Amino acid sequence: MRKFIAAAAALFTAAPALAQTPPPPKLLVVISVDQFSANLFDEYRPQFTGGLARLASGTDFRNGYQSHAMTETCPGHSTILTGDHPARTGIIGNNWIDQSIARADKIVYCVEDERAPGTSSTHYIVSPEHLLVPTLGDVMKSHWSGSRNVAVSGKDRAAVMMSGHNADQRWYWDGKQFTTDLSNAAVPKVVPKVNAAVAAALSQPRPALEPSPFCQTKARAVPVQGGGQPVGAGRFARAAGDATALRASPEIDGDTLALAAGLVDEMQLGRGAAPDVLSISLSATDYVGHTYGTEGEEMCLQLTELDREIGDFLSVLDSRGIDYAVALTADHGGKDIPEREQLAGVGDAARVDASLNPAVMGKKLATQLGLSGPGLLGSSSFGDMYVDRQLQAADQKRLLDAAVAAYRAQPQVEAVFTAAQIAATPLPTTSPDRWSIIERVRESYRAGRSGDFFVVLKKDVTPIADTSHGYVATHGSVWDYDRRVPMLFWRPGFRGATVTAPVETVDIMPTLAALIELPLAAGSVDGHCLDGTPAFCPR
Ligand SMILES: [Zn+2]
Repeated sequence: MRKFIAAAAALFTAAPALAQTPPPPKLLVVISVDQFSANLFDEYRPQFTGGLARLASGTDFRNGYQSHAMTETCPGHSTILTGDHPARTGIIGNNWIDQSIARADKIVYCVEDERAPGTSSTHYIVSPEHLLVPTLGDVMKSHWSGSRNVAVSGKDRAAVMMSGHNADQRWYWDGKQFTTDLSNAAVPKVVPKVNAAVAAALSQPRPALEPSPFCQTKARAVPVQGGGQPVGAGRFARAAGDATALRASPEIDGDTLALAAGLVDEMQLGRGAAPDVLSISLSATDYVGHTYGTEGEEMCLQLTELDREIGDFLSVLDSRGIDYAVALTADHGGKDIPEREQLAGVGDAARVDASLNPAVMGKKLATQLGLSGPGLLGSSSFGDMYVDRQLQAADQKRLLDAAVAAYRAQPQVEAVFTAAQIAATPLPTTSPDRWSIIERVRESYRAGRSGDFFVVLKKDVTPIADTSHGYVATHGSVWDYDRRVPMLFWRPGFRGATVTAPVETVDIMPTLAALIELPLAAGSVDGHCLDGTPAFCPR
């Protein structure tokens, strides 16, 4: 598939003042802002003055797509530096169900080793084994023995998906500190230093942030259905020791970037003979979105701080004299709480009916059919649903038919596809904005991991009925508010361009590979190099 795009010829092209064919950069910095929808980026773009303004002045793809259906963190991060859709990376969701595993918990977390004794999907050993393809850093390290592959994140799954199977350093926030699953390298001195600084900050209360006049226009408390607290006018004041509040605030992104900058210095990234890659996934925007929605004062403060923090980080790289290039994107988009969307005139915005939850629906159908057990296994984020394998084969078929019919009859359900229908659908070859819904689902489908059927909720239905546990908004749908994300490429001294033609996050990896002159075997990735310039994109 391609679709390219003369207008993108400026991508990583030297400005006229510079030499025509500059050498490849020595450091690739790949930033993922978790839950940073293109809608949010478009809305805030005029407000940015820091790092996001700088990156937006590079080559700015206004219509990047996490094109698959299951728009969650793990699949989204799996696309960015592998160049592959989840159908190929194998990362179909944050979790899936594997009824063949020995342990009682049949849920598998995307970056766990579920064979480890005594583990569960919530108390697990971190592992990249479910990722079925190499990352850019993996390929770099097999091509150049001196390349370093480093990842830092607020989430384990983001750091693992961006660095893959052969990382030199990989650090992620575990709720209390930055930690790693790797035992192959000495702990850099900056890690305990940053952890001590975070612990010291956490032990003190944090005063409220001061909103800009623009953010003050967003401040309006909106009641939330489903038991949650009103949101919309928060300013991130937090009590001493409240690590949950630290994570759902700009603080954690600042800490993540401080650790990244420390690793650049301590490891001398970008200063060796071979190019290095530093992946940074900034998680706070996602936690802020889930906790407060996307259109209140909280997200305004978060994005203001994110812009400043990324700017500070880029200034550190500038001051070190490193020849670097940056790509920034998101693992998925997001949307606001339905209560505020209704106030804004989004007429169909609603919370999902609790009776659609697979546990509720499965039990009801099993009872109707005279069967024991849960009937269905699945998650409340919808998507993949699994029929209970404890049932006899004939009863599994009866339950599957009943469940597909029952979900299809629900007014909040857009479509239901069986695994057979999905598997029989060819992989899409057109532009991602034109994919049918089943084509989006097809790129999230992997035999052996995916469910027996896939439920698609209608547009603007938020799959959170009970808000009493603190999450009021989410992502994960097949709709473009969750699929469309920013895609920015920037290099110091290089000319920018704005491109409106749709592109995909799977295009980032082959584009960066071309930039550093890393050969990729033909057909080895789903994505395509985003450049009209033959020097960057070998034909
Ligand atoms: Zn995410």
